[in-house]
Amino acid sequence: MRVELLPSSIPVSAAQFLVSFLINECVAIDAGPLGLLSDLDRQRRVRHVFLTHEHEDHIASLPIFLDNVYEPGPECVEILGDAKLLDLLRRNIFNGRVWPDFFDLSIGDNCFVRSTPLEPGVSLVREGLTFTPLRVTHSIDTLGFLVDDGKAAVAFPSDTGPTTTIWKVLDKAPRIDAVFLEVSFPNALADLAQAIGHHCPASFATEIGQLSRPVRWIVVHRKPRFADEIAAELAALNLPNVELVEPGRVYEF
Ligand SMILES: [Zn+2]
Ligand SMILES: [Zn+2]
Repeated sequence: MRVELLPSSIPVSAAQFLVSFLINECVAIDAGPLGLLSDLDRQRRVRHVFLTHEHEDHIASLPIFLDNVYEPGPECVEILGDAKLLDLLRRNIFNGRVWPDFFDLSIGDNCFVRSTPLEPGVSLVREGLTFTPLRVTHSIDTLGFLVDDGKAAVAFPSDTGPTTTIWKVLDKAPRIDAVFLEVSFPNALADLAQAIGHHCPASFATEIGQLSRPVRWIVVHRKPRFADEIAAELAALNLPNVELVEPGRVYEF
């Protein structure tokens, strides 16, 4: 399985403003910078977009992406997410005002987008990958994903503070190789992090103890203004198997 956290700045830097993971070049989790990829052919190869939640950093370029990859015909991109999230997108973004209603415009052989609601715990297969959506603990309803290709499995908990279900599932999963887990705030803002469902280095250290199996922990979602502070605090903890994500790097599992 090939996984890339798409860069959200040009030139590419470690700063992560937006969230979008590309898996095997054909499926995305979230659409932060997806529609800003300068290589349009890469955008066109993405046929399925799983959405974790509706926060702006996770859906920012979704409307632009759908516009970029549209080609007249029956084939179109599939958006998958919680039913309430799909409804919110239609009412508030694809509403004919903020952006054209691509859902209403998808009639017969002219398809812009189709949507598939997800249920927590109910797996589905796309492009040879099994996706299992799992509830995490954020300020709004949010789904993380376990993605398994039969040989390797990677978890994307998305934005979350301390949570439990996903770790119980990962502990029993057939395999788990890596987890892209967030740390958004430094320890000085631990109260804020807890109040809005994010991690600081201290809560991250406790959280990874919930998984009894050894995995590669790849830290994502450091808010750019705190990125150096978070990195220093994580380094001081000296945790095994923990590394900082490199946007634009292709990880192979
Ligand atoms: Zn969020
Ligand atoms: Zn976020």
